[in-house]
Amino acid sequence: MKNIAVIGAGTMGNGIAHTFAQSGFKVQLIDICETSLEKGIATITKNLDRMIAKEKISDKDKTETLGNISTFTAIAEGVKNADLVVEAATENIDLKLKIFKQLDTSCPKNTILATNTSSISITQIAAVTSRPDMVIGMHFMNPVPIMKLVEIIRGYNTSDSVTNSIMELSKKLGKTPTEVNDYPGFVANRILMPMLNESIETLYNGVAGVEEIDTVMKLGMAHPMGPLQLADFIGLDVCLSILNVMYNGFKNPKYAPCPLLVNMVQAGKLGVKSGEGFYDYSESRKAEKIAQQFLK
Ligand code: NAD
Repeated sequence: MKNIAVIGAGTMGNGIAHTFAQSGFKVQLIDICETSLEKGIATITKNLDRMIAKEKISDKDKTETLGNISTFTAIAEGVKNADLVVEAATENIDLKLKIFKQLDTSCPKNTILATNTSSISITQIAAVTSRPDMVIGMHFMNPVPIMKLVEIIRGYNTSDSVTNSIMELSKKLGKTPTEVNDYPGFVANRILMPMLNESIETLYNGVAGVEEIDTVMKLGMAHPMGPLQLADFIGLDVCLSILNVMYNGFKNPKYAPCPLLVNMVQAGKLGVKSGEGFYDYSESRKAEKIAQQFLK
């Protein structure tokens, strides 16, 4: 595999593009929004500069990595030579089904189609294509260039050979791929999201304040970041979508999103990406400083 198309240049898409490009792959980064592409490239540049400052990479590595990335606003144009597509667009089932139908018609017949979805059924996504055996979940963790895990999700029809290629490819990126089956939330979010939701419920019930809840979990459970801060970094809209997928998928009230989370998303308080969530990120570079502490 040489050419990797990445759909979506948001929080995850730019990290996925960065990671592939730094490992020598040619990356076609695609987003419907020109501003997202510009922001994505700016984030990758900033993250590479940070790696130079820490003496982890050289100026030449930065130039080569950026040189490996080209940007597109049209899917058909960006995927026409792709060996693999990694879709990292907004967590919305209708959007993902529409994108995969389009990918199936625009990509060469041998292109593997992967999705970075946090919770949506790989089997359902695969079913709208004519190549369900070549559709797979490739669930990177945030921040992608740093986090080692890639949850590899086999859909009902995903073939052994596609699974093996994606496992091997993930290792070439320096990641540790872990194979799981296709049920709502897979493994990572099935365990993480109820904890984040419960921390929001704890706040909603007035048991403690934001800082107190995060301090208990950081100092008491040795979590590197408090759950409310982590929810802000993931994006409260993303957390809400994942909880809804699990709630609808299992028909179990234990996954029902806390009303406070629903309200905050409706009010546009999405966490770091909107400048405010459980914490205020409006002060310049505040979110970045918090992320730096976490990444030390
Ligand atoms: P985001 O909101 O930061 O970015 C989504 C991007 O998709 C935006 O730039 C948007 O313009 C673009 N987009 C929307 N429709 C598009 C289309 N039709 N074609 C091309 N681009 C389109 O979202 P994110 O947090 O990066 O999440 C992306 C995916 O990764 C979701 O499926 C999410 O569940 C998953 N994920 C997120 C995290 C996280 O921590 N945020 C972690 C793991 C997986």
